[in-house]
Amino acid sequence: ALTIGIVGLPNVGKSTLFNALTKNSVLAANYPFATIEPNIGVVPLKDPRLERLAQIHGSAKILPATVSFVDIAGIVRGASEGEGLGNKFLANIREADAICQVVRAFRDDDVVHVDGRISPGDDIETINTELVLADLQTLENAIPRLEKEVKGKRTGKEVLDTALAAQQVLERGDTLYAAGEAAGVDRSIARGLGLLTTKPFLYVFNLDEDGLTDEALHAELAATVAPAEAIYLSAKLEADLAELEEDEARELLESVGVTEPGLDQLARVGFDTLGLQTYLTAGPKESRAWTIRQGSTAPQAAGVIHTDFERGFIKAEVVSFDALDELGSMAKAKEAGKVRIEGKDYVMADGDVVEFRFNV
Ligand code: GDP
Repeated sequence: ALTIGIVGLPNVGKSTLFNALTKNSVLAANYPFATIEPNIGVVPLKDPRLERLAQIHGSAKILPATVSFVDIAGIVRGASEGEGLGNKFLANIREADAICQVVRAFRDDDVVHVDGRISPGDDIETINTELVLADLQTLENAIPRLEKEVKGKRTGKEVLDTALAAQQVLERGDTLYAAGEAAGVDRSIARGLGLLTTKPFLYVFNLDEDGLTDEALHAELAATVAPAEAIYLSAKLEADLAELEEDEARELLESVGVTEPGLDQLARVGFDTLGLQTYLTAGPKESRAWTIRQGSTAPQAAGVIHTDFERGFIKAEVVSFDALDELGSMAKAKEAGKVRIEGKDYVMADGDVVEFRFNV
């Protein structure tokens, strides 16, 4: 499964947030891969559509899609030099598929800030500078090697061109993700070179409770990280919510003027940032969301259930959740002509409720 690495300066609330994530984790019985390591939190992607599908089909079980977060400790100034903790940090971040930065925006005189002041913009700069320096170091080693390989025709020129374009972006102090492909940096080549800042970034601003509904503040913070997505939450509040029963949690949320827990937003935005989407299946046994890459075709989607389904794919019977929801049963959806037959070139859409036909 793809993972999101959680990073941030010391004392910004990473552990608090990660502990809340872990408390929200899915039951390992349903997700055998979810137990493995203490620094991995596998959280459900909340999807109210599944409850409705279960109601329509009389499903015994609901299985939401999941998002995996990895707690990556150890970013400090100088991490890019690869000393001690720095090496481990870089190795961990290399394995993550997206980078989630937790940024302190709460004020609390009892919690020391490493740099002695609360300044989200400066904190982001500190972390991104380490990642940019690590990438520059990677390129400094790679470019002379690539020059030789291109001369000897063992490597395509586009790889060297990408490396040089990336170097220009990084020398300006920008991440490759923020610069985008417009800067002439082919993302998949850059990733192949092991460059960290091509990974998608998202930001969690850890706010005081009264900041949760402060839209002017959110807009100001969003501007510092665009085009990356941002989530505004209080890690402390999320930790409290994780301890409560559902109705109590809802009351607490309402009392601070928020409708959705920050962790649910984080799961949703994280899932999206990873380039993933879901489709749905439903029957008496279970209503379930399956994870696919955005843009997957019907056979690729079938392959997520079982590899044999991809090879033996014949067709997909697809109904949109909205149509099924409105008509209230599969039989009625069929009657109304809302169940489509799709072939192997069909690109899956969000909210597709699917049944695959296949040869085995
Ligand atoms: P880490 O070093 O980034 O993992 O930070 P921790 O999660 O250990 O948090 C550092 C300190 O900040 C702890 O004392 C937390 O209780 C406190 N803290 C974390 N989140 C919040 C928050 O949202 N508001 C306040 N006031 N304190 C917080």
